[in-house]
Amino acid sequence: MISFNRVARRHTDEWATWVPSPFPINRSMLKNVKLATLAALRGSGIFRLVAKSRWRQQRLLILCYHGTSLEDEHLWRPGLYMQPQKLEQRLEFLKKGGYSVLPLDDALQRLRAETLPRLSVVITFDDGTYDFYQQAFPRLKSYGFPATVYQTTYYTLCERPIFNLVCSYMLWKRQGQVITNSAEIGLKEPLDLRTEAGRHKVVRGLIEAAEAEDLTGPEKDDLATRLAHFLKIDYACIKAKRILQLMNARELQEVARNGFDVELHTHRHRTPGEERLFRREIEDNRTHIRELTGTEPVHFCYPQGVYRPAFLPWLQEESVASATTCDAGLATRESESLLLPRFVDNQNRTQIEFESWVTGVGDLLAFRRAAPQTYVPGRS
Ligand SMILES: [Zn+2]
Repeated sequence: MISFNRVARRHTDEWATWVPSPFPINRSMLKNVKLATLAALRGSGIFRLVAKSRWRQQRLLILCYHGTSLEDEHLWRPGLYMQPQKLEQRLEFLKKGGYSVLPLDDALQRLRAETLPRLSVVITFDDGTYDFYQQAFPRLKSYGFPATVYQTTYYTLCERPIFNLVCSYMLWKRQGQVITNSAEIGLKEPLDLRTEAGRHKVVRGLIEAAEAEDLTGPEKDDLATRLAHFLKIDYACIKAKRILQLMNARELQEVARNGFDVELHTHRHRTPGEERLFRREIEDNRTHIRELTGTEPVHFCYPQGVYRPAFLPWLQEESVASATTCDAGLATRESESLLLPRFVDNQNRTQIEFESWVTGVGDLLAFRRAAPQTYVPGRS
């Protein structure tokens, strides 16, 4: 029996717009306590014991990644991005520790059949960004690790930076400033870029302006170009480096040709509350992936980690075999296939936190299971 304590759960990262926590000091104190506890447990051999246990062998850890920085994206959004060296460190740990990195479909079948090898792990990347192609893909190949890419397809075809993310990124580049002549870019209030909350408000204003005028992807990109000009940022350079863009058709084909799974993440990175629109997102996404890669995607990942009870029968109708959330946990044989937990790894995670989750200790301690509710949904 699945219990839904909340109507919807939202992941901290992804394409949403960030709302800062009002309690940074308490969070930092808790984090220190948690890290000290983990260090004591690792020092006393508990990590090794749990890793070797039958309990761990009956469980599957699904790792969730998003972006790997091309430049400084991890400084802008550390919950979404990670430095390439940090990703390398994780992969090295999995290799040296003798972890069994499995393809998603194989791992789920073996989880049900109770034939998982020891220390089984699945690696997933959400969104299918260009930086995945540039940074993660070659590293995964060199380690011989399989991975699943949950590919959203609108910006794969549009081939421009993701509008709300690139606006947020450029405003972050000008943090500390207050700009008064905002009417030049069609905004009513001055741009207060001194705080995350102030920058968030500006991004919301730009998204609302784009929605009010029903702008297309290319038109939104024109608005981002005007914002860049207004902020005196070289937008052509950001575009040329492919920062905050998705893989294009050719890159996605290459990833699929190399044996990586390309799976469902909705066409426009959204999960409408109406069945017809929700299912259209899945169908459009599936059609484009099928056309681009020649494969048939059957696994799904909830954009922003948002899920509602109503989504499950809709996914079943669409013949979706599994769906992953961003709630922390190890999957068991009893886990609901359409609500599989994952551990979200990012720049904010320390190496010892990562190790606690791959060994299984993190799940036993379960400092925090459900993804926090500090983000509000954005639009692609
Ligand atoms: Zn996503």
